[in-house]
Amino acid sequence: MKVYKFGGTSVGSPERIKEVSRLITEDGEPKIVVLSAMSGTTNSLVEIADYLRKGNPEGASNMVNRLHTIYKQHLPLLYSKEETTTKVRERLDNIFLQLHEFRTREFSEADEKAILAQGEIMSTNMVTEYLKECGVKAILLPALDYMRLDVNGEPDLPYIRERLAYLLEKNPDYDIYITQGFICRNADGQIDNLQRGGSDYTASLIGAAIRANEIQIWTDIDGMHNNDPRFVEGTTPVRQLSFEEAAELAYFGAKILHPTCVQPARYAGVPVRLKNTLDAQAPGTLINNDCEEGRIKAVAAKDNITVIKIVSSRMLLATGFMCRVFSVFDKYKTSIDMITTSEVGVSLSIDNTSHLASIVDELKEVGTVVVDEGMCIVCVVGDLRWTNRGFESDATLALKNIPVRMISYGGSDHNISFLVSMEHKQAALQALQKHLF
Ligand code: ADP
Ligand code: ASP
Ligand code: MG
Repeated sequence: MKVYKFGGTSVGSPERIKEVSRLITEDGEPKIVVLSAMSGTTNSLVEIADYLRKGNPEGASNMVNRLHTIYKQHLPLLYSKEETTTKVRERLDNIFLQLHEFRTREFSEADEKAILAQGEIMSTNMVTEYLKECGVKAILLPALDYMRLDVNGEPDLPYIRERLAYLLEKNPDYDIYITQGFICRNADGQIDNLQRGGSDYTASLIGAAIRANEIQIWTDIDGMHNNDPRFVEGTTPVRQLSFEEAAELAYFGAKILHPTCVQPARYAGVPVRLKNTLDAQAPGTLINNDCEEGRIKAVAAKDNITVIKIVSSRMLLATGFMCRVFSVFDKYKTSIDMITTSEVGVSLSIDNTSHLASIVDELKEVGTVVVDEGMCIVCVVGDLRWTNRGFESDATLALKNIPVRMISYGGSDHNISFLVSMEHKQAALQALQKHLF
């Protein structure tokens, strides 16, 4: 069985929902279909929660009403039978009523998670009912019945595998199994989520759990491009990536894939294909175990990076210095992205600054600390084994007119990363595009 995932734009209007329904049914093959919320919905739900957190129930109510009006307008455009329209309208009315009711009680983080879950719950209900109206044997498998985090906040794979197998076995005679991306339960059974953009992760987790023969991520572009199309003109799709290359690109900012999405598929050995809902014939990008030799594949950039430099003459010829530095980051559960060292100093980059003040405070016991904010990691991905000649110098030469704060190479066979100021991000991406492709 294959797993298909459609993002917010792909189900963003009644027309798009009809197109997706055609796409998933035309080959007659059974599949699990993971859906995001309709585009814009999760952002609106975040805003509703924000009004409630700020103690402004009227602001929340206005947003709920605005969203409700939009959804009501979709229904007659989507369904042709009065009976389906009424059924779905009642279900949505109920969800919007619940959203209004959050204003009547003390707001908590659990409420926020429950509010954010409603986008996917609505889109999956709407699509399932549309498919049924079209005569398709479709059923909704609620993600809250099988997608769960463990006590560490990580997906509980054995549980997910077992529950999914049970649910599929219990409902054998369907062609299309619709389910929600993004949402899950935590170890206490409360509603939670896999972080913004996490529907890709859901698809990968399901694909790995059922050992699917392919996971297809359908979005609004014809696969992974060789550079970020939001900042660079003339980018082109990359037809194939290894799991490692795709993971690096996703982690370092290629928004088409959620950073965590590649891992489950990679461990289960399930190929991932990126496809374009707006041009289903386009070949897209295949991600599998193959590694094309001797090629730089793509460039991506990750924003809002902070760099911390620790300089100490005590580092000279001393052992245990790095251990002391790393233990501070470990204590504050802050992961490090890039690292460069010299005889008397080390520079590290982080993206989570929630404990920055405490980290800096403790590092001052080790050396002199300097912090630079507003940086960006520009990551060049491809076959970058050290025995290859010229690739790292090509990338470095491309950036000859851009001030570079750090360079990291040799950490893996697949990337070379440059840390530049965010104001130079676009120029850096454009320069790499011009020189490398
Ligand atoms: P979805 O809502 O379907 O999950 P996303 O907006 O999360 O879609 O991801 C698709 C978008 O990712 C594209 O529209 C594109 O602007 C952006 N993007 C950023 N980098 C890349 C890249 N290297 N290749 C393709 N798309 C990219
Ligand atoms: N709807 C969620 C979001 O907008 C999850 C997703 O689309 O992947 O973040
Ligand atoms: Mg996405």
